[in-house]
Order: sequence, then C-alpha cells, then structure tokens
Amino acid sequence: MRLVCRHISTFGKHSITNHNHVGRRFLHRDITVIGGNLIGAATAVALAASPAFAQRAISLVERRDIKFPQNLNEWSNRVYAITPGTRRFLVDQGIWQKLSPQQKHVCRRMVVWENQSDAALDFRGSDLVKDDEDVEPDTVCFNIDQHALLHAIYERLKELPNIELRSRTRITNIELPTLDRRSFPPEKVTFEIFDEPEKHTTDLLIAADGFNSQIRKLMGVKNVSWSYKQKSVIAVVDLDGLSDVDGTAFQRFLPEGVVALLPLGNKKACLIWSLVDDCAEQILKLSDEEFVETLNRHLTDTLDYNQGVMSVLHGTRLIMNSVGLRQSCSKVTPPRVVAVHPQTRASYPLGMGHAVNYVVPRTVLVGDSAHRVHPLAGQGANFGFADVECLVRNLAGAAFRGEQPGDMKALIAYERERQRALLPFQVAIEGLIHIYQNKNLPVVLARSLGVQILDSLPYLKHKIIQFASR
Ligand SMILES: Cc1cc2nc3c(=O)[nH]c(=O)nc-3n(C[C@H](O)[C@H](O)[C@H](O)COP(=O)(O)OP(=O)(O)OC[C@H]3O[C@@H](n4cnc5c(N)ncnc54)[C@H](O)[C@@H]3O)c2cc1C
Repeated sequence: MRLVCRHISTFGKHSITNHNHVGRRFLHRDITVIGGNLIGAATAVALAASPAFAQRAISLVERRDIKFPQNLNEWSNRVYAITPGTRRFLVDQGIWQKLSPQQKHVCRRMVVWENQSDAALDFRGSDLVKDDEDVEPDTVCFNIDQHALLHAIYERLKELPNIELRSRTRITNIELPTLDRRSFPPEKVTFEIFDEPEKHTTDLLIAADGFNSQIRKLMGVKNVSWSYKQKSVIAVVDLDGLSDVDGTAFQRFLPEGVVALLPLGNKKACLIWSLVDDCAEQILKLSDEEFVETLNRHLTDTLDYNQGVMSVLHGTRLIMNSVGLRQSCSKVTPPRVVAVHPQTRASYPLGMGHAVNYVVPRTVLVGDSAHRVHPLAGQGANFGFADVECLVRNLAGAAFRGEQPGDMKALIAYERERQRALLPFQVAIEGLIHIYQNKNLPVVLARSLGVQILDSLPYLKHKIIQFASR
C-alpha cells in the first residue's frame, strides 16, 4: 500500500511565492517539518489541527517513500509499548481513533527480573489509579505495531487541508539563521530541494530526522552521545501459553543486555533482545531451532544464581512476611518460546544521545534527533510524542499572543520543559544499565534486596509506573 504524495497548491494566506531580482522563485511555508516517521508526522498533524495554525502553511518533508503493508492487522517485528499518557495525546489529535481494536494490544502486567537472583518486580495495571476513564482499569501500556501507528497518523494527516506532504524528497543547501542575537527578527531558514529550481523559505524548521539528524549537525549544538556497542535483536515469536503470556510483558536483565517480550495476543510476542554486537551477529545467524533454544536458555536459566545472595533474600523475605510486607511476585514463571516467525529476525544498533540544546533561532529538534535512549524502558517514541505535545502547546500559546512561529521565547520554553522532564529519565536508564551489568557481589546483593523490598511496596511501585506512563 503506497501513500500518494499530495502536493497542495493552495495554502492559507501565509503561503507566498516570490521572485528575487534575478528571477528565482522563492516558496514560503510558515512551518517545515523534516522527517516523516512517527514523530515528524505527528508534529505536522498536531500543528495543522491546532486552531492557532489553521491558517498556516505546514510542509512535511520525508526522504523515503511512505509505504504500508497490505495487512495492517498483522504484527511485524517493530512494536511500540505506548503509555496511557501518549494515548491521551493521540486521542486529542484524532489519531488513536484510526486504530482498530486488534491493532492495540493491552498489556496489563510487567514482570522484571534478572539472572543472578530471583528478586523480581511485578507491575500490575490494577495497582494504578486511573485518571483516564476511557482506558481499561488495569492497563499498563498498549502494544502497537509501527506500521499500524504510522498509518493511523497518515490517515489523520490526509484530513487536514493545510499540510503539504513531500515524500521521496531530498533537501539540500539548508541555511539556518546566524546565532547572532542582534539580528532580530532572525533571517528565515532557506533550503533547496534536489533537482528543483526554487528556493524554499520557512519561519520555523522542525527537525524530526532521527538520531543521526543532519539538521542538528547544521545547528552546531553539542550532542552528547555514545554507542552501547550493542544491537537489539528483534523478532515475532510464539509462546507456549502456560503463564499469562497474553497480558504480561516479561523483561530479564542479563550481564550482556536485556531480553524482553511484549505480548501481542494469541500467544504471540515481540522480542526485543539487546546483546553486545558480536553476540547479536552470531544469534542472527543461528537456525530457527537454535535461536529458540538459545532464547529460552536466556529466559529461564537459573545457573548464574548467586547462592549467597539467594540465602540473604530468603532470610529477608521471612522477616518482611512477619511484618506483613508481601511481595506481589514470589516466583517468576517465564514463558517458553516455541517458535520464531520466519523472516522477522532483524537487528538495530543501540546508542544514547542528548542534544545539549534543542533550539536555535527558527530551528527546533523533536524526537530522536534531540534524545536517544536505550529501548529497555520502551520510551523513545513516547518521549517524542511528549515533545510534540509540549512544542505545539508552547507555539500555539505564542501564536495567540501574536508572536511568530520562529520566535525564541516559545522555543526556549519548550526546550526547558522537555529537558527538565527527560534528563532524570535518561540518567535513570543509564543507571539501570550499569547496575545490572555489574556482577560484583555487593552490587548484586544491594540491587536484589532493593528490588525485593520495592516489590512489596505498592505505593512506590505505583509512583514509578505512573511516572513512566505519563
Ligand atoms: C529495538 C527498538 C525498540 C524500541 N521500542 C520502543 C517502544 O517500545 N516504545 C517507544 O516509545 N520507543 C521505542 N523505541 C524507540 C523508537 O523507535 C524511537 O524513539 C522513535 O522511532 C523515534 O522516532 P523519530 O520519528 O524521532 O525518528 P526516526 O524513527 O528515526 O525517523 C526519522 C525520519 O526522518 C527521515 N529523515 C532523516 N533525514 C532526513 C532528511 N534529511 N530529509 C527528510 N527526511 C529525513 C527518515 O527517513 C525517517 O523517516 C525502540 C527503538 C528500538 C531501536
């Protein structure tokens, strides 16, 4: 299924075509979004649907061809765990309504454990206090296929008359205004499109062009980044269904990475398994049978349990029980994988990235171009959607005050709000990675005890999951 590229000829009053003195045509768009995957396309929708920008010309530029599989109810190997907070945003944008019930599988429980001890955390949706009446009471997150989600965004985009979509489009010669704050208002952003004669201008350039962002490099902002030297091996697998595999997500921390299964219903799950580069390469080369066997070993093996830590945990459990502190997860029953779906094994490189600034005059970063996180928390896209909500809210507020889309005040407010929300998360995710990679006895003991105690404190668990699902 191919989405036909729409070139809208009539725009609102702010779309202007000009000629300069040498006769070159200038095409102006009020706002241009670069990158038409989940976050860029959602940005274009949120802007175009906002009453503040109803009369503005918005352009969405994507270099790829935008294509969808014939059957959008089938699961591919890229599945996103979408939080209730993101769901609210998607509902407000009219996107959620485009997803059929089969395309959003409700996850009601999340079990997290490790390989050095049996300490486990059991997050249940029923522990959460719901502030959204439309969400089933025990929902932790919704698992949604990437194609279905992107298709829903593009279906909504088609309904909005003030978006011009340009797919298979390469932009070149991008010129951003100088950082000289004395030139006020800053000059407009200009760029060209490969093989086209016109010069394009825009008041605000929104970069949603992913973690390798070309626009971020042009902005000259510092980007703190590193590779984990790991790859995420992904696949669709079948489970034997002896435990609650259709409603529970399982995640096991191992010294060489994290293995996770997101439930998809009908005893299917999406595998997300981070492994050091060499291991990932080897695992991808295994036959289906060897792959399933290796995966089951990593999910179920108890050979690495540290007996010293286990006896301390046992003693602590008895003391906790005697004072009425009961763990909700006394024993993890990991699912057994019975098959891997053909042609669904693939891998993605993993890295961390944090742009020190998200904005310069007339240019702003959203999604992975601004921040990239390890998928262990299933948050990258959720963070990106939260960026979009925050950016469009700040821009709309500025528009109602009579400010132009590229004005710095609203952009800086966006940057502050998002960095304040995101940095603690990024630090926590890094902390978790390091704590779980550590095999030293005191560290294993401390984290196992911490996890065991936390699992018996519903109030704290509730706070953690509420924080993560905003
Ligand atoms: C294995 C794995 C599992 C994950 N699971 C989850 C999960 O469960 N939940 C979750 O929230 N997140 C998850 N994430 C993170 C999530 O995939 C990303 O955070 C999200 O896809 C980022 O979206 P984006 O639109 O910002 O960037 P991208 O998806 O990278 O999109 C960038 C787009 O910009 C286009 N582009 C780039 N340069 C140009 C240019 N010059 N001109 C025009 N177009 C351009 C590209 O073609 C692309 O379409 C996971 C990530 C991985 C690797």
